[in-house]
Amino acid sequence: MYCPFCRNPDSRVVDSRMADDGSAIRRRRQCPECGRRFTTVETTSLTVIKRSGVGEPFSRSKVINGVRKACQGRPVTEDDLAMLAQEVEETIRASGAAEIDAHEVGLAILSPLQKLDEVAYLRFASVYQAFESLEDFETAIAILRHEAEVEAKAAKGKSSEKSPL
Ligand SMILES: [Zn+2]
Repeated sequence: MYCPFCRNPDSRVVDSRMADDGSAIRRRRQCPECGRRFTTVETTSLTVIKRSGVGEPFSRSKVINGVRKACQGRPVTEDDLAMLAQEVEETIRASGAAEIDAHEVGLAILSPLQKLDEVAYLRFASVYQAFESLEDFETAIAILRHEAEVEAKAAKGKSSEKSPL
C-alpha cells in the first residue's frame, strides 16, 4: 500500500477496527517516511460482470453516475445519491455473492431510486428496462400509484392502531 501523500511503498498499521455491521475492516495507517496518516478499508471483493463478460470491481461512483442523468432537474442532492449508492452496495453485499451481473446492479438501484424520486425512477426504469411505448410508462405509473395507495392505507392502519379509540 503506497502512501497517498509521498508514494512511499511502506506503511505501518496504527489501528484496526471492524465496521459496525462486520462487513469491513478499517485500518489507520501511518507512513514512516512523511509521518502522515491515512485509512484503508478491507472488504470482500465484489465483481460486476459487464454484458461483454468482462469483470470489474463494484464501484459506488459508477452507480451514482448511472443514476445522475435520471435525476437531472429533480430535487436530488449529492448526499442523496451517495446514500442511494451505499444502499445499493449493501443490498448486493447482503446477497453474499462475490460476482454479480451488471443487470442485477440495475435491479438493486430501482427500489431505492423509487423511494428517492419517482420521476427519476421512471426515467431510469424507462432506459434500463427499455420502455418502448406509452403503455410501458402507463404500466409503470400504475404500479407506482398502486404502491402509493397501499402505503397510504398501511399508514392509515398504523395511525388508527395508535389512536386510543
Ligand atoms: Zn508518506
